[in-house]
Amino acid sequence: MRLTFDKLPLYPNLHRCKLCGKVVTHIRNHYHVHFPGRFECPLCRATYTRSDNLRTHCKFKHPLFNPDTRKFDLQTEVIDLNSSVNNVDKSS
Ligand SMILES: [Zn+2]
Ligand SMILES: [Zn+2]
Repeated sequence: MRLTFDKLPLYPNLHRCKLCGKVVTHIRNHYHVHFPGRFECPLCRATYTRSDNLRTHCKFKHPLFNPDTRKFDLQTEVIDLNSSVNNVDKSS
């Protein structure tokens, strides 16, 4: 999925779509504009055709990661994702 987007160096939360040039904040949402029906795990890039399959995958493979919010549910584990995920949610 990330291959489809360029990061904007000055704006770490923004990504430019290589396919249409649009700058978006939620690459997963925009990804579906071009590739409907594909759900990619942002952590290991496994792809699924159904969102519930991806949720199941994350539940077992990455139990701290919430694929819906793209955030980690707990603050006890810090995972380096090439600085692409810098929004660890400590409030939950
Ligand atoms: Zn696009
Ligand atoms: Zn995964």
